[in-house]
Amino acid sequence: MISENRVLIAGAGPVGLVAAVSLLEQGIPVTVLEASADLAVDLRASTFHPPTMDFLDRLGLAEGLIERGIKCPLWQFRDRKEGAVATFDLGLLKDETAHPYRLQAEQWKLTEAARARLEDDASADLITDIVVETVTQDADAVTVTARRKTGEIEQFRAPYLIGADGARSTVRKSTGVAFPGLTIPEIFLSLSTPFRYDLAIEGLADICYISDPEEWLVLLRTPTLWRVLFPTDPNLSDDAVLDPVRIEERMQDLLPGKPYEIAHKTAYRVHERVADHYVHGRIFLAGDAAHLNNPLGGMGMNGGIHDAVNLSDKLGQVWRGASMDLMGRYERQRRKVAIETVQAQALRNRAVLNETDPDKRRAYHDDLRATVADPEKHLAHVMRSSMIQSLRDLEDVS
Ligand SMILES: Cc1cc2nc3c(=O)[nH]c(=O)nc-3n(C[C@H](O)[C@H](O)[C@H](O)COP(=O)(O)OP(=O)(O)OC[C@H]3O[C@@H](n4cnc5c(N)ncnc54)[C@H](O)[C@@H]3O)c2cc1C
Repeated sequence: MISENRVLIAGAGPVGLVAAVSLLEQGIPVTVLEASADLAVDLRASTFHPPTMDFLDRLGLAEGLIERGIKCPLWQFRDRKEGAVATFDLGLLKDETAHPYRLQAEQWKLTEAARARLEDDASADLITDIVVETVTQDADAVTVTARRKTGEIEQFRAPYLIGADGARSTVRKSTGVAFPGLTIPEIFLSLSTPFRYDLAIEGLADICYISDPEEWLVLLRTPTLWRVLFPTDPNLSDDAVLDPVRIEERMQDLLPGKPYEIAHKTAYRVHERVADHYVHGRIFLAGDAAHLNNPLGGMGMNGGIHDAVNLSDKLGQVWRGASMDLMGRYERQRRKVAIETVQAQALRNRAVLNETDPDKRRAYHDDLRATVADPEKHLAHVMRSSMIQSLRDLEDVS
């Protein structure tokens, strides 16, 4: 058994690694245990909201990411047939954030940068190819039992453990904390293509939510590709959803032209769930291990990074002698955001995108147009959609 005075972190996704960097910045040693042989490099989240960039800046992780991403100050709500309904301007946030834009960059660029920071620090260990299997705790410490790829079992004992091991979190399951919620009756098909939608559609913003009573979609620009996210019938098999002929038909329906080159395709089921507790003694849950929501609005990974920063700030204070009661505030603050802001907003975003009632659609579109035309309402809207408001509101949670 390896017994050390450090923080254990299960999972080297964006949340586990940001928590690790944030603890290292406070002089707290960390060991990160990652099941995979290497960090994930597939296409997942690709939007960093302004306050996330502010946090990453504080941790020295923003500059490199900005160099490898695209700054997008505008995002659009569109109607698939009628075109742009409203264009929101994050530039209005210039007095609220040092980063008044969404940065479009793939999440693996953040995890790569965070790993480099860990490699430079003698008080950080990142162990890959090791699966956390069980977790127990007593009054003084947490014991993690993990299995190396070679089959060898190893135990780690430390005063605290962060469970940032994703949606199927073993840490969460080991604590017995419930994860109530629902699975959305839709498969999300995420495609990426080198096709330049920005050159083909006049006035298109780099981030577009496109409503339609029959097939809504999301168009997102990344540094080298455009991503297209379609909802798909959950009764279809993954093979049917990913069928290249059907994909080509859907791409042609969206914008007819030459055959599309598809660089990546993924089909994934989306859940809306929030763990009953984020704190279980000396064990803390963060990121997808604690909450899941649909990707509309790009709040899942961003909310997870906000968890990581909030959690490690408080854990740092506990490390330096503050009462463990402080960790209860982490749970109260971040669960509230997950339920009242992220989940509520993501469900609203989905509802408005696939609204079928023509009167309701018209009323919603009129409301959006009125919002952007009124500077105060426009600012309030981008404060919410950029997640700045959710962080400000936390100050009132004791
Ligand atoms: C296919 C896919 C597509 C996505 N697309 C989008 C998108 O378009 N937009 C969006 O906003 N979000 C998207 N997401 C969600 C987004 O990627 C997550 O919100 C984000 O990665 C959460 O970060 P995390 O660090 O909490 O968890 P993860 O990124 O899942 O990281 C968890 C890490 O823990 C490791 N791990 C798991 N179990 C163990 C164990 N027992 N022991 C040790 N290590 C373990 C995993 O290997 C992984 O590296 C997508 C997710 C997936 C899976």
